[in-house]
Amino acid sequence: MRTFDFDLFVIGGGSGGVRAARMAAQRGARVALAECAELGGTCVNVGCIPKKLYSYAAGYAESFEEAPGYGWTLDGPPRFDWRRLKANRAREIARLNGVYRGLLEGAGVTLIQGWACLADAHTVQIGEKKHTARHILVATGGMPFVPELKGREHVVVSDAMFDLDPFPERLLVVGGGYIACEFASIFNGLGAKVTQLYRGPHLLNGFDEDVRQFLAKEMGRAGVDIRVNSEIGMITRQESGLCALSSRGVRTEADVILYATGRVPNTQGLGLEAAGVELDPRGGVVVDAHYRSSVPSILAVGDVSTTQQLTPVALAEAMVVVDMLFGQGPRELDYEFTPTAVFTHPNIGTCGYTEAEARAKFGKVRVFSSEFKALRHTLSQSGERTFMKLVVEQATDRVVGLHMVGPDAGEVVQGFAVAMRAGATKRVFDSTIGIHPTVAEEFVTMREPMPG
Ligand code: NDP
Repeated sequence: MRTFDFDLFVIGGGSGGVRAARMAAQRGARVALAECAELGGTCVNVGCIPKKLYSYAAGYAESFEEAPGYGWTLDGPPRFDWRRLKANRAREIARLNGVYRGLLEGAGVTLIQGWACLADAHTVQIGEKKHTARHILVATGGMPFVPELKGREHVVVSDAMFDLDPFPERLLVVGGGYIACEFASIFNGLGAKVTQLYRGPHLLNGFDEDVRQFLAKEMGRAGVDIRVNSEIGMITRQESGLCALSSRGVRTEADVILYATGRVPNTQGLGLEAAGVELDPRGGVVVDAHYRSSVPSILAVGDVSTTQQLTPVALAEAMVVVDMLFGQGPRELDYEFTPTAVFTHPNIGTCGYTEAEARAKFGKVRVFSSEFKALRHTLSQSGERTFMKLVVEQATDRVVGLHMVGPDAGEVVQGFAVAMRAGATKRVFDSTIGIHPTVAEEFVTMREPMPG
């Protein structure tokens, strides 16, 4: 029988790769992991974690504004120190990089620094050195995509937003997805004048229509200048800053222009095609339900292959691979009712189907929705409102869609996602006692369906 240097060779030290390497090694496999940058991937270094830290920073602006209603007096306007925030974030991320390294080394994973490339179905090359492995896991993630346009060299992508120097007084955000909305909200909160341009009629394609409209209203109320049905034709640098000219001739000036126009799988320069690995039109690795590529010894998890580009999805996929290769055997992941949050101000939290998707899939549905001013904002004087919506399959009474725009929506929806995975019906929701006074209790007290 052929012998290999390793049982598993993981390319990429992000969420999926680290989880697979660590858990496989803990089960006794001989594992190597190659990473050319810092450990932790997009999530830790330029994604979820620093984004959430900056989102907390932005949230203080609202709290300062609301504090006087609760009796607090602030002596003079609060001042924000961008450099201090950047330095504190960098320190925390470096700490996390170290935690990841410690976890891998503690599990006995061989860490290799460098750019890995496939030489064949069982061989990975890093520099001059070749390593053989029974299984190879590609977990190289994705990277921001910027469309071709005149003046493209003047724009930045989300990776650069954490270390901008100086702080952008005027920020133009292009795109209407997760990343565009989150950065528009964050920099608005931190004090920049933010304009967001989106090519379609409503932000956040794919989310429930009511959620999309409600969020745009709230972001607008908070100060983001949202311009829909708008596309940029050209960007130039002028003395007064960058100038974006829309295809309809509208000029917008900014200090920084962020393109958040989607992400593409990181598959360039990995030798995948030469090794016979099939790629889809986006450049992603085509995998089966067990994450095997067209070459059986090569597997892929996370953003490099999946359509749900979310850290917890990459982690779950990694565990399926480890269980299959070094555990109880093959099983399939169920992606239905994957909850997700958008860390805008206010947050979106969502689980299951939009109303339109539910109508298409289940036929008759009942819809419950509620819009209100949260108790917190009675004294705060903030005009912020909260929106909640349930979509219920008529035939079974099952809650198939749950959507929220409001404070800590991600925290609220995580718990409800468990109930939805368990098949909770509206009757179960109705029989659940609320926690008073909370915003979340509204999900168990909505009684009257919307007409129609
Ligand atoms: P999204 O796919 O969410 O959004 C991309 C946006 O760019 C859309 O509004 C899209 O418009 C627009 N767009 C695409 N191509 C062009 C173009 N050529 N010109 C102008 N606009 C264009 O991608 P993101 O980059 O925001 O995020 C990538 C993924 O990362 C998300 O889908 C999500 O899975 C994940 N993510 C998750 C987060 C979370 O969990 N909180 C946070 C950040 C990212 P249109 O809608 O018309 O196609």
